[in-house]
Amino acid sequence: MRYVVIGNPIAHSKSPQIHAAFAAQYALADFSYERLLAPLEDFDGTVRSFVAEGGKGCNVTVPFKEAAYELATHLTDRAAVAGAVNTLKLQDDGTLLGDNTDGVGLVTDVLRHTTLTDKRVLVLGAGGAARGVLLPLASARPAAITVANRTAAKAVDLAGLLQPHAGGVALTGTGFDGIKGEFDVIINATSASLGGERVPLPEGAFAPGALAYDMMYGKEETAFLAQAREAGVTRRVDGLGMLVGQAAEAFRLWTGRTPDVEPVLAMMRAGLAG
Ligand code: NDP
Repeated sequence: MRYVVIGNPIAHSKSPQIHAAFAAQYALADFSYERLLAPLEDFDGTVRSFVAEGGKGCNVTVPFKEAAYELATHLTDRAAVAGAVNTLKLQDDGTLLGDNTDGVGLVTDVLRHTTLTDKRVLVLGAGGAARGVLLPLASARPAAITVANRTAAKAVDLAGLLQPHAGGVALTGTGFDGIKGEFDVIINATSASLGGERVPLPEGAFAPGALAYDMMYGKEETAFLAQAREAGVTRRVDGLGMLVGQAAEAFRLWTGRTPDVEPVLAMMRAGLAG
């Protein structure tokens, strides 16, 4: 049972510890999970070599989720709609199934901190992570969702593409300079925090009592959460809970077992604090 997480960069990934903890819950002695760095220009070749060497599945992270979508032979419905894949599973017939577990991971974690019903939600970013979470967010019945991206056209296109599947929740795409009004929940799905950069949010974007959620996580406060703190936001959450939640869903796809998330999240949180 050989699994990996593929990305570039990848050294920072905590996924191996999470999957080792899940495997320990079921005493799966032959389960292994490692980091695999793929060259930016050869994601497909990296996956194919891994499978040829006996790999059974992988998680896919920055910047390969759209490439994984293209590579998958079959897609789950949620991956097909998202246009992004974060989990690949080798099927018995040698084909690759692509799934997207980011949305379940994110929504489950956001709901630990706030309700989403009737909330005004802003998602920053229109890359693989944003693609995976917009419809799961819509299914939690917010008032509306705005998706804003550095490259405005990507956000506009994505909102237009997903709108028919959003169950009547309005999805609006814009560039950062088109962000208007205030929001109850602002989710950073850009990779700006990876490079310690801030997102150009207009003043007053955080409504009173708003939740700031950064998909990025780490030992240090992320750039986005620092930005939120300076804007007076008291409810600030990093993406560790999302990470553990999406991992649990991938583990279930691969092994048919549903791991207990809470003790693993507590362990990971303690590890970051230590
Ligand atoms: P992608 O490479 O697919 O997309 C990156 C996105 O970030 C694009 O929208 C891009 O905009 C934007 N961006 C990049 N740099 C900047 C910048 N300096 N300023 C503003 N916007 C920027 O990455 P993913 O969508 O896969 O991942 C995004 C983030 O989410 C990463 O930090 C990743 O670690 C995190 N993540 C966390 C998960 C978790 O479980 N906690 C799960 C999934 C992702 P443009 O289109 O203009 O290039």
